[in-house]
Parts: sequence; C-alpha cells; structure tokens
Amino acid sequence: MSNSPTANREPLSKTLFIELPLGSVYPEGWLGNQLTIQANGLTGHLEEIWDPVGPNSGWLGGTGENWERGPYYCDGLIPLAYLLNAEDLIKRAEKWINWTLNSQTREGNFGPPNNLDWWPRMVMLKALIQHYEATSDSRVIEFMWKYFDYQLKNIEKRPLEGWAMARGAENIYSIFWLYNKIGESFLLDLADIVFKQTLDWVDIFTNFPYTRPISFYYDFQKFREVFNKVQDIINYHSHHVVNVAMGIKLPTLRYLYTGEQRYKKAVKLAIENLTRYHGVANGIFTGDEHLSGKDPSQGTELCAIVEYMFSLQNIIKTFNNNIEYADILEKVAYNALPAAFTEDMCAHQYDQQVNQVLVSVAKRNWYNNTDDSNIFGLEPHFGCCTANMHQAWTKFVKNLWFATEDNGLSAIVYAPSSVNIKINNIDVKVREETEYPFGEQIKFTISCKETVAFPLRLRIPNWCQNGEIKVNGKRLSNIAAGSYYKITKEWQDGDIVELRLPMKIRTNSWFNNSVSVERGPIVFALKIKEEWKKLSGQKPFADWEVYPKSPWNYALVIDKESPEDYFSVEVSDVSDVPFSSANPPVTLRSKAKRVENWELENNSAGKLPISPVCLDTEPEDVTLIPYGAAKLRIAQFPYTLPKK
Ligand SMILES: [Zn+2]
Repeated sequence: MSNSPTANREPLSKTLFIELPLGSVYPEGWLGNQLTIQANGLTGHLEEIWDPVGPNSGWLGGTGENWERGPYYCDGLIPLAYLLNAEDLIKRAEKWINWTLNSQTREGNFGPPNNLDWWPRMVMLKALIQHYEATSDSRVIEFMWKYFDYQLKNIEKRPLEGWAMARGAENIYSIFWLYNKIGESFLLDLADIVFKQTLDWVDIFTNFPYTRPISFYYDFQKFREVFNKVQDIINYHSHHVVNVAMGIKLPTLRYLYTGEQRYKKAVKLAIENLTRYHGVANGIFTGDEHLSGKDPSQGTELCAIVEYMFSLQNIIKTFNNNIEYADILEKVAYNALPAAFTEDMCAHQYDQQVNQVLVSVAKRNWYNNTDDSNIFGLEPHFGCCTANMHQAWTKFVKNLWFATEDNGLSAIVYAPSSVNIKINNIDVKVREETEYPFGEQIKFTISCKETVAFPLRLRIPNWCQNGEIKVNGKRLSNIAAGSYYKITKEWQDGDIVELRLPMKIRTNSWFNNSVSVERGPIVFALKIKEEWKKLSGQKPFADWEVYPKSPWNYALVIDKESPEDYFSVEVSDVSDVPFSSANPPVTLRSKAKRVENWELENNSAGKLPISPVCLDTEPEDVTLIPYGAAKLRIAQFPYTLPKK
C-alpha cells in the first residue's frame, strides 16, 4: 500500500484512533450494492443531466457555475470511483482534478479566477485529499503547500466572509492533514488565523442560545430586510442547519491543537443541546433550513445529514471515548440518509420529515424553504443537496475502520466490508461479513501471510446488552455495552472472530412524549401505502410526489417499560436494494389504534397529540419497516396504554 495511515504530528494531540487513507476499506455485501446503486443513480449521471456540473462548469474552465457545486460533486465522485474501481468514474474524476491542479496561479491560488470566495476551495481541498490517498499523485502535496502559503499571505487582508466564515472548520481539516504529512509550522499559524476568523461555534454550542425554533426569534421576511447589518448575517449563519452540522467539528479540531478540555466539552454540549431542543428520532436535528425545534413535521435538509456524518467521523477519530458518537453516526447513516433518496438513488429530497405523510408541492411550516422542498427530484428547492449528497456513503465506508496508535485495528461502525493494513510490515486483511444493521451477527476473517500480533478493537454500542464475542469458537467474557472490546493476540491466517450484538426492541421518548421504536441502529416507521405521481422530468431522473393510500394517524398500543412484548419481529435476507420498502430486511408487527382528530394540517401530520392518549377505537394490526425504506411514514408515534 503506497499510502499508510498518518498519525498526528506534534503539537497536535496524539489520538488512539488514526484515519485510514481512502482505498484501505472496501464495501462488500449490501453496502457494496448500495454504492453500486449510487453509481447507477445520480452520482454516475449527474454530469449528463445537470448543468452546474456539466462541461461548462467554472471548475472545468467554462463560464457556468463557479462556486461550490463542482467541488461538492468531486468530494463524492472521487471516492465512489475508487471504492468501486470504476474506470469510467475514475476518468471523470481525473478531468476535474487535472483542471483544478492546472489552474494554480504563480501566487498559489486555484479554481475559477472570477470567483475568489475561500469557501468552495475548502471543499475542493477535501476532494484533492481523497484523490491523493487513492492515487499518491505527487502533484497534490506541493499544490496544497503552495495554496496554503498563498492563503496565509492573503487571509488577513481578505478575511473569511459569509459561508466561508461559518465553515472555516473544513479549511482547518485540510491544513491539519497537510501538516501531518509535511510538518511545516506555517500551517499551524494559518490554522490559528482561520480558527479566529471562523464563527465562534465554541461559544454558540457552550451557551446554546437557540432553545426554540428559530421562527420564535426571527421572522424570516423581516430578517431579510435587515440583512445588510453584519450582526444579522452572523446570526443567520449561526442557526443555519448545515452550518451547525459542520460547525460541530470546529471545537474538535481546536481540541487537537490545544488539548484543552473545554473544546471536548463544547462538542458534547453541542450534540446534547441540539438533541434536547431540535432532536428527532432519525438521529439528527431539524432545520428547514434553520433550526426548527422538535416537532417531527419539521424538515431536515439533506446537506445537514451528510455534513453531520462527516463531522461525527472527525469527532470519533479525535476522542478515545467515542461510542456515543459512533452510535449516532450509525443511526444517521442507517436512517436519515437512505430516507432522503428514492431506492434507485435517482432522486432526492431537500427536506425530510420524521413524520412524513404527504410528499407534494405545497405550503408547509418550513422556516424559509419553498413549497417543493420535500418532493423527490433532481433539484428540489435549491441545488446544494444535488451537488453535496455524494460524499455520505463514500466517507462512511472510509470511516468504518480506523488504525490505532498501538499498531492495531479497530472496527468503529459496522457494515460488510474488508480492510487492508500493514502491521509490522506484514499485510493484514480483515473481512467483515454481516447483514448488520439488520442482522445481529458479524463475522471477521483475518488473512495474513505470517503470524502477526496486534490488538483488534470492536465497538460494543450503548444499546447492546449481552454482546457475545468468540475467537475461533472460544467464547470471551466481560463484554460491556458502551465500550471497545480489545482482543490482543498473535493472529494467524484464517482466524475467525464472531461478534453478536443482540438487538432488543427499545423505545425512545420525543416531542409531546411521542415514542420511536428502535432495534439496533434502525428506527422503525409505520408502513403507509404509497402512490407515486410523476411531476416532471425524464425517468429515472424525474420529480415525484407521493400520496398516502392508507391511514397514518395511529397510536401504538404499548407499555414503554416492556416494548419487546408488543412487537413481533421478522428478519429476512437483505435484497439487492438494502432499504427496500417491498422487501424490507426487518419487519415489525404490532397493534395500534386510530387517533381520529389527528389530521393533516398545513399539508403535514398535524400537531402530535400528547401521549399517552386515551382512545376507545378498536386496535388494528400495523406493520413497521426500517425508516430509510419508508418514504411516507410515522416514526414518532403517539401511544396508548394496553388494557390491563
Ligand atoms: Zn443542501
């Protein structure tokens, strides 16, 4: 392997976990199918059907879009091309990379010369890093060195503004990456200036001021009228849901630089506060497109989902005690992410709702999004998500496994995959076979030409009691939820580790005491009969509305103390479409009662009745399927108590 994991260089903090370069981890099984679906869907065809990344892109020397869309697309296209080893996609990716590398001026700047905004360059640097990791292209290191030298010479007189000011963490991420490669101290000076010019996310998350939906504080129309005042612009960015999702990694990066505990605490508080005041059952928080409170009829923008995943990956790699964050990453990746796409990944939503009972062009209680924000299409509302969605599954694959500082390997989040790493100069491969997150069983097979000693760590999620591990059939003991289990041994070719993570049905409490039903990392949603109506566009890249053809206003009949007693579970093989509504890998059946006065309001499920609700309607049988597969759904249910 040309490209080995790089640990932090002093004075950056030493961490237990070390990111593996792109190309160390490959998707297999259902995850491989999911990436193939992505390549056959929007990612593999976007250049043909969407002008902003077409041949006239400013990032290919044309007169078209010259801001964030080309770089966003590359940030997902490049890893997808190499993870699938897809010649045609690699060729496409090279075209963008070559133009970008050749665009560098004598001073060191790069990109479309008619747009000097720092922000899109932050994104392109992340794409270049992945290109370097996959290819060892020697041009990249020198290019980045020269660019950061240019940035240091110019950033004081042309400081970060607008989106760049909100998103400086992305800039620091790339600066640290290069610093770890070449150790030039001017890079740390630059990182320090970028940190100081970036919105003060540490203060925002520590003294969290947004404990209500942003509509409570600011009327958007009025907000727009006064938008020329500097303080208003800062305010606007500080509660914009995508900025918030990205900003969470800023204290993480500052912690790396200073080692100060308050930055670690700011990350913890960020996630606690966002969950407490804006959290919903799919693992993230609302924002349509500013923080929107806990009502599950509010929306979450797809860009926030993919960026939250990338922030979580940075957080997980930085902190040794990261189980809670890895649990959240799995929840977002296995629920919120697939929910935002049609099964063929040829269309996406801008805003998704946790309780989503009608997908149509209509007025909803969004803060500032337009009427088409929840339809499935090529570019609902605004094209940022069309460009930015491609990074999510690909970065997820890269971050399934980390190297560890004690010369070992750690499984962080689980999915079928294989990882290749050199340990003590010996090539080691671990193959992970599983239907997780749908199944409980994970089998790791170690391949190595010679015997090699190293620690293998396995994450035991917080939700998992009674986890089991066997090494070559021999059972290990003291498997504790919420920890890493470390197996240190001399590994031999063919050694097998079996991990079982029993998935009991659990509930969680949300807005108006509603409940979510969860099993492992999967959230379950009421299956509603869907009627898909094509609005416009050419299949398969058309725009779609979805209408409910069966009732949705159900309260579950359950006792939250013993949810296991109220659901029957059916598990089947994962089909070629992992998040399929017709063939879901896991189905739950339960009893529920209709809540007659819970109706459509403003084209969304009306205000949730406060649970437990008293109902004298008859119980009916209902079916729940994985949230990501249910494009119409209720996933935060009211509940009613069973008769004693
Ligand atoms: Zn977006």
